[in-house]
Amino acid sequence: MIGFVKQSTVPFPRRILALIAVVLAFVMLAPGSAGAASPTAEKESVDERVDELQREHEGLSEELARVVAEMEDAESQMPDAEDAVDAATDELDEAKRKDEELGARLTSAENAEEELREEIDSGTDQIEESEESVVGVARKAYQNSGVTSDVAMLLQMTESDNGLDGLTRVDSAVRGQQRTITRLGERRAANINNQDRLDAISEEISDLKDEAAEVVLEKEAAERTAQDAKAALDSLVSQKDAAAKTIEDNQAETAEELERQKEEQERLADEVREWQEDNGDGNRSLPGEGFLRNPAPDYPITSPFGWRMHPIAGVRRLHTGTDFGTPCGVDVYAAADGVVVSSGSAGGYGNRVVIAHGTSNGASIATTYNHNTRNLVTAGQSVSQGDAVALAGTTGSSTGCHLHFEVMQDGDYVDPMDWIS
Ligand SMILES: [Zn+2]
Repeated sequence: MIGFVKQSTVPFPRRILALIAVVLAFVMLAPGSAGAASPTAEKESVDERVDELQREHEGLSEELARVVAEMEDAESQMPDAEDAVDAATDELDEAKRKDEELGARLTSAENAEEELREEIDSGTDQIEESEESVVGVARKAYQNSGVTSDVAMLLQMTESDNGLDGLTRVDSAVRGQQRTITRLGERRAANINNQDRLDAISEEISDLKDEAAEVVLEKEAAERTAQDAKAALDSLVSQKDAAAKTIEDNQAETAEELERQKEEQERLADEVREWQEDNGDGNRSLPGEGFLRNPAPDYPITSPFGWRMHPIAGVRRLHTGTDFGTPCGVDVYAAADGVVVSSGSAGGYGNRVVIAHGTSNGASIATTYNHNTRNLVTAGQSVSQGDAVALAGTTGSSTGCHLHFEVMQDGDYVDPMDWIS
């Protein structure tokens, strides 16, 4: 009973699994089932990627972000396009193979047809000859005796001068006629048989021609499909190449721009470090990580602090702060009590506010608020946690309204989210 249960239950899920595998294989093999999104969906996904790239890389132009997104899109479609070319090529090869095979079968059938026709013609000639021969003998007998039958002819022969000799001759003549008549019958049968074979072969040739005509259509369709698939792949390759060329053309300039931004970040970090040294860190002792308040609590983080590969420059670059997706013009709040170190325009940072807060475990802590539409505080001013210090914006190297918020620990950029409670 246990054995029965095992036998009856175990294979069943396996069969289902096998069925699922087959269905999946079909789904995956079905042309256009994967990767070939509709143009609208594709446009949307490229647009989304452009937004994402611009959020990840402040100051990256929409034009270049689009080039990158379109290149990635082309690259992502290429494996499917290559598979489609392979599949279409296989189909075309198969159609060509069938075409050749049918051609060979047709040639061989036509040769056989020709041979049979010749055989039938020669058989017909032989039949005519035999018929003439039989008719000739009969006619001779008739002319000699006036009697139409072979018997009369035989009688006439036996009545010749030497009876025995006459009988022998009769015997021989009868046998000769019989052989001729037998051969005639055989040849007629052979000809009928050959004619049947010829009819069959003619029908086969007609079928083969029909089949060949279908295969020619199949071959033409496969050729078109293969050409289309190749054209689609070529188009993706040229899209990718064109994008790669644009990226290459902009690489040096972008790398220079990133280098300028990096120098500016370092210069500003030094400035904060010097200020903190000169001002004794405000003598304020901070409780450590977690004492900062979110400067834009109502808005999402659109890009975190950290290293990332720049898609144009092809170099790793530190995103020195946390980006919050604020609209332009909304209040930006001081993350903690402190003194405004600087407030003004700072190159790629746009309008920037820097606030020094004091010391945490011996390290001086400052926060910066960047790309503001307008700063609301001035250097030297004391601020309290939660005071509005600026209106968010998109000044400097920025392609959309947001707050770029930084935390500096002894002048080094650290992850702000580690410090915000
Ligand atoms: Zn940022």
